[in-house]
Amino acid sequence: MSTPRTTQTGWNRERTVCFTIDAEPDCPPFLWSWRGIEEGAPKLFDLLDELSVPATFFTTGDTAAHYPSFAAEVVERGHELGCHGHSHRSFMDMSVEEARNELSESSSILRDFGVVTSFRAPYLQLPEPFVPLLKEHGYLLDSSLAKYKVAYWRRWHSSGLIRVPASITSSWLRLPPKIRDPILRSRKTPLVLFVHPWEFVDLRKTGIRWDCRAGTGPHALSAIKDVIELLQAEGVHFSHMRDLEREDTG
Ligand SMILES: [Zn+2]
Repeated sequence: MSTPRTTQTGWNRERTVCFTIDAEPDCPPFLWSWRGIEEGAPKLFDLLDELSVPATFFTTGDTAAHYPSFAAEVVERGHELGCHGHSHRSFMDMSVEEARNELSESSSILRDFGVVTSFRAPYLQLPEPFVPLLKEHGYLLDSSLAKYKVAYWRRWHSSGLIRVPASITSSWLRLPPKIRDPILRSRKTPLVLFVHPWEFVDLRKTGIRWDCRAGTGPHALSAIKDVIELLQAEGVHFSHMRDLEREDTG
């Protein structure tokens, strides 16, 4: 159990938090196994139920094709199903036609499970000229930017979409609370957090990058629980990404 915390002043009352999950193979491009979907996702689903947190699952078309029961469960449990491309290839290396194909294929698979209007590119990298393609494929919101990446600070356009950047990178949520909690408190609304199902599988002995594997497994799950309980104790509002208002973003 985490320690109850007293309410902080000033930062929480109007604060919206989006808890998002990038559902994909295990830690691409280092591994391409599916332990996260098979072993990690059930633990995450149960934790989100226990804490009554609505989440947004940005899911690759490939994941939904391999694990249709996973995509169905996202919707059945009341979460938002979003799109994370099809193959988890980076859009940075694609031609316009390849990007169109990725969007068509993934959208068609995912929309068999429900309405899908939110998008996040793999590796949080989407070339600006591709943003209008999202609208062309029926997307209303893009979360491919990240406040901790250079692209966010360059010139970007709404292109008619709501654009909501990720606030902090997933491995930071596994840092010690003394470092992590001030970072969480310093971010503006909406606070967009993201994790991956593979983080809840112990990957510490695999050869993936150190910051990706550190703290994976049971520690990651208890860290997420701690973060959500901290935010709930502060009185924030958890929201699906599709429910964000335009004025909340930026
Ligand atoms: Zn991803």
